[in-house]
Amino acid sequence: MQTITAKTGLLGLLGSPVGHSFSPLIHNTLSEKLKQELCYLAFDVSPENFEQALRGGFSLGVRGFNVTVPHKQRVIPFLEDIDESAKRIGAVNTLVRGGEGFIGYNTDMPGLHRAVSSEGIDLKGASAILLGAGGAARACGHMLGLYGAGEIFILNRSGERAAALAEELSALYPGMEARGAELSWYRELPKRDYLCLQATSVGLYPDTEKVLIEDPEFYQNISAAMDCIFNPGETRFLRLVRAAGGRGFNGMKMLLYQAVYAYELWTGVTVPDSLTQELIPVLEEALHG
Ligand code: NDP
Repeated sequence: MQTITAKTGLLGLLGSPVGHSFSPLIHNTLSEKLKQELCYLAFDVSPENFEQALRGGFSLGVRGFNVTVPHKQRVIPFLEDIDESAKRIGAVNTLVRGGEGFIGYNTDMPGLHRAVSSEGIDLKGASAILLGAGGAARACGHMLGLYGAGEIFILNRSGERAAALAEELSALYPGMEARGAELSWYRELPKRDYLCLQATSVGLYPDTEKVLIEDPEFYQNISAAMDCIFNPGETRFLRLVRAAGGRGFNGMKMLLYQAVYAYELWTGVTVPDSLTQELIPVLEEALHG
């Protein structure tokens, strides 16, 4: 931990709850390694106190915030400006100081893209299955549309939510055919070589034996998969993908790269990829002890 002085700048997380967040560990490690006089703290802020906390943070000179559940949409009306891609996704996770207030960005989507690319996956023309229609699924869907996937099938417990996301993505990315329905629709998917993105909270610690789709048949057509979950490191979903001969990876890199993008926005410093890789064992140690 670096020494705090009168010159130390403040970064922070606004969310609720925030007690299990890895953002303080990631950002404080980055500041230490990159010799930036910055300190990152997590603030548990209720929806009622959000606006006051944000305005207070700006007045206090806070350099930047991350915003997490339940404020990712709530923050938008209070921004001085919003980045084009964050506006399209409809969610903000990073705030950078502007002249009169904060400017909102979404680093989840580019972070996710960097994670997927680092696994050698090319999205151009890809056929994808997206499991889920919540916040993480939205980042996945927009990434697939923006980086040229050919088609996407969205499966979700609430079929209506899946269909609504598919409709939104079809309108924004006409080059990608998007359809959405409830989970049981998996039996009717056309035979393809699929990239499957698991973006539900099913299988998250401590319910590690849960999986959204049990049927081993489903996994036969999946050649590559990512689970947004990183705790546990190997979910039952990933085990089923591997058992069927596909390759899969977890959400750790997604988490790291969204943080790295945010850090670069706040500081203007380029984080070397070797440093990002160094953070993986640091996070694993924090997760599993
Ligand atoms: P949301 O609450 O926005 O969405 C949850 C999704 O999971 C919805 O699609 C929901 O379906 C589905 N779901 C929840 N419980 C069940 C259940 N019992 N059975 C079937 N479906 C269920 O959460 P997020 O999108 O923010 O997070 C999803 C996952 O992604 C979490 O595990 C989170 O940890 C992970 N994540 C990882 C990140 C990373 O950096 N690696 C970043 C953000 C999230 P329905 O619409 O029907 O309710």
